[in-house]
Amino acid sequence: MSVKTAAETTTLGVLDRMEVSDHEEVLFCHDRATGLKAIIAVHDTTLGPALGGTRMWPYANEAEALHDVIRLSRGMTYKSALAGLDLGGGKAVIIGDARTQKTEAMFRRFGRFVHSLNGRYITAEDVGMSTTEMVNIRKETPYVAGLPEEMGGSGDPSPVTAYGVFCGMKAAAKTAYGNDNLSGRKVAIQGAGNVGRYLTEHLIKEGATVYLTDIHEDKLAAIKADQPAVHIVKPDSIYGLDVDIYSPCALGATVNDETLAQLKCSVIAGAANNQLADEKKHGKAVMEKGILYAPDFLINAGGIINCSWERRGYNRKAALNQTENIYNTALAIFKRSQEEKIPTYLAANEAAEARVRSMKQAGLRSL
Ligand code: NAD
Repeated sequence: MSVKTAAETTTLGVLDRMEVSDHEEVLFCHDRATGLKAIIAVHDTTLGPALGGTRMWPYANEAEALHDVIRLSRGMTYKSALAGLDLGGGKAVIIGDARTQKTEAMFRRFGRFVHSLNGRYITAEDVGMSTTEMVNIRKETPYVAGLPEEMGGSGDPSPVTAYGVFCGMKAAAKTAYGNDNLSGRKVAIQGAGNVGRYLTEHLIKEGATVYLTDIHEDKLAAIKADQPAVHIVKPDSIYGLDVDIYSPCALGATVNDETLAQLKCSVIAGAANNQLADEKKHGKAVMEKGILYAPDFLINAGGIINCSWERRGYNRKAALNQTENIYNTALAIFKRSQEEKIPTYLAANEAAEARVRSMKQAGLRSL
């Protein structure tokens, strides 16, 4: 899933950019009345409609927004393929400040653009979004997931994402230590947000020692109040801790030259998207350092699995059962990586690509 960096792609036109990343469709949306400026990217619909969240972010310019949506939508194809879902990959970005610029009219207008794709793209929440926006989008199109539970939706995906990360972490422990019991293991979680909070709960319950950091003191204090056993640490000291597992649950690109020099863990397993700053380089570097990296799009698929159940009639238990299978998929990916002596990200990419390719060759398409 190695794609070019923003700097490498800024010289390319949109169609060339789509050719490089193998995108089917990119829709640019503008509405003067509401101030909406959005881009919807449909990467691949071989396995089914492209489901992926909408991110609202104050991008510095259009090129940055395009780079993000291209990269994120492609990632969704891999995530759903590996999770065994009949879904393709897509994503949308809205250029703007989620704290000050959101209006009902803007999201209803955005819903019309989503609707114009006739179900090829289904939206959901991402950074800067909440169920409120999904409800407004739903007024204009049925092609939206992540609705509140009282509307028949799947609600907040974070608890399910956290459960999937926990299962993926156990598979990594089984591979690295020969035992998936995390009791007594030391885990450093970066990010006390929605996923970090639920992941902390699972780990403490299992008997792990959890070190937790965040840039916001109030988030840490809230978790500490519920889980007094958790050890709070400063954001900068998270990488150098003497722990078994580093769990990035805040930002992407935290596995890089600088942090790799500090990391003492033997497993990396977390929820954040795009953890490897440079997939090829750092995917190989972690392997050479003897660290088992659990590919992010493999173990953070609980959220999309949860959303996918809205299309079949939401069933929380079934969503959790399917999420639990991340454990088996992760074991298979780690085995393949060991047998073929290739980085884990590559083993995961190849497995996802093989599923898409085989459905394409068989002419099977479930729209
Ligand atoms: P969130 O916004 O609730 O939490 C992220 C937390 O990280 C925040 O508390 C923030 O203050 C903290 N943070 C930001 N920068 C930090 C830094 N430098 N050091 C320490 N903490 C920092 O997000 P979330 O829903 O918990 O998701 C966490 C990550 O997992 C994100 O990268 C998200 O894209 C990814 N993810 C989430 C889901 C989901 O279902 N929520 C699904 C798939 C992937």
